[in-house]
Amino acid sequence: MSASLVRVGLGLGADLDGFRAAARALIATDVKPSDVVWSADGLSGGHECAGAKPLMLPKGAAKLIGSVICHSDEERHALLYGLIWRLTHGEKALLDIACDALVHRLARMAKSVHRDVHKMHAYVRFRQIDTARGERFIAWFEPDHWIVHSTARFFVDRFRGMDWAILTPRGSLHWDTQTLSVGPPAERAAAPAGDDFETHWLAYYESVFNPARLNPEAMRGQMAVKYWKNLPEAAAIPRLIREAPARVREMIAREAQPPVKRNPKKALAAMGDQALTSLAALNRQISECVPPAPFSPRAVLGEGPLGAAIALVGEQPGDQEDLTGRPFVGPAGQLLDAALEEAGITRDQIYVTNAVKNFKFKQVGKRRIHQTPTTGEIKHYRWWLLRELDFVRPRLVVALGGTAVKAMAGKTVPVLRSRGPTDLVGQWKGFITVHPSSLLRESDPAVRATAYQGFVNDLILARALV
Ligand code: URA
Repeated sequence: MSASLVRVGLGLGADLDGFRAAARALIATDVKPSDVVWSADGLSGGHECAGAKPLMLPKGAAKLIGSVICHSDEERHALLYGLIWRLTHGEKALLDIACDALVHRLARMAKSVHRDVHKMHAYVRFRQIDTARGERFIAWFEPDHWIVHSTARFFVDRFRGMDWAILTPRGSLHWDTQTLSVGPPAERAAAPAGDDFETHWLAYYESVFNPARLNPEAMRGQMAVKYWKNLPEAAAIPRLIREAPARVREMIAREAQPPVKRNPKKALAAMGDQALTSLAALNRQISECVPPAPFSPRAVLGEGPLGAAIALVGEQPGDQEDLTGRPFVGPAGQLLDAALEEAGITRDQIYVTNAVKNFKFKQVGKRRIHQTPTTGEIKHYRWWLLRELDFVRPRLVVALGGTAVKAMAGKTVPVLRSRGPTDLVGQWKGFITVHPSSLLRESDPAVRATAYQGFVNDLILARALV
């Protein structure tokens, strides 16, 4: 190396701070881009200059640098320093010249980084493992660029209540529901290859795969083949593509038949898989199914934002809910609202639904008396409830009372003995508590007050879990 060359060593990957400090020092000492040799092996030392002033760069430059520094191209530092040199040596408006070769190349690099971030958001698939400290979720992903740290916020916000790790050959992220740590590159073998939940996910994926909309080219465009090997659903895709023409023919033949309205699965089969592409479509289907007597024909649908942190699952609509078409608006709903407020939860932040969508009652004179749904009836609605939660994707499912717990767990579970955080509600992180109407049934005011406080405490605990 010539004596006039300056060697700058940076950390492995996207060492933005190291690059900034080095660039500032190089500009301060007037070192030309052609006189710098960059390396990013994490071994050699950086380059600093005491008292070097922060660089005054035009708008947009910091953002571009922040993106390009994540690119895997080994020339990224040299290119970026070349940009900084030109911006600070008479070409202040350089970024406005989109056809400049350097600007064009950097813009393409930034775009490639953004695309990679987007793919990582979309294609990370967690696998569950049991550890001494409880369940953990581990994912393996192979990004093209050094983007792991810049996706951290997204995954923390999305999976705040889960203990997870994302392992990649370009670094790893670890979140224990409180603290994020960034770790070194990992090996594929450190992540589990599958888990028990995978069968459910595949069944779900197959049920939402619409053969009538099949466009393999678009699919490959959106989901590049290189990601397939780490996506559990990808194993099913070639078969789904092969079977698609026959399924479409079958769907067309089926169109002439009257829809089967009673059974959710049969109703779905009659409508084709398109019925499941959104919560609105699913709700339409629930509303169209005619329940057997003695249920009211009106379905009361879940309410609340998609992605709500908490989903509350009740039993079934009551008289008031059936009249208004909204869940939890009658006496139990008012008690629930009061308890939520005391727990610091606002109703519009959460998703509220019922295990059974129609009011089951016995007519006594003018009154409609609530009837508890049977196990068979709960099972009839269960399939819908699980699909509904798949769309809502809450971080925690709170089951209120025995029917909700039975619907979520798929079996009878004693509420009082299982009260609190639970893994009994299927794939979801769950919480079991009493139904607010059990408090209304309590005739002793002192017992009722204690029970109510216990319910509020449960909601406070549930809130702390998300
Ligand atoms: N009880 C429930 O379980 N759900 C309602 O919507 C109302 C009362």
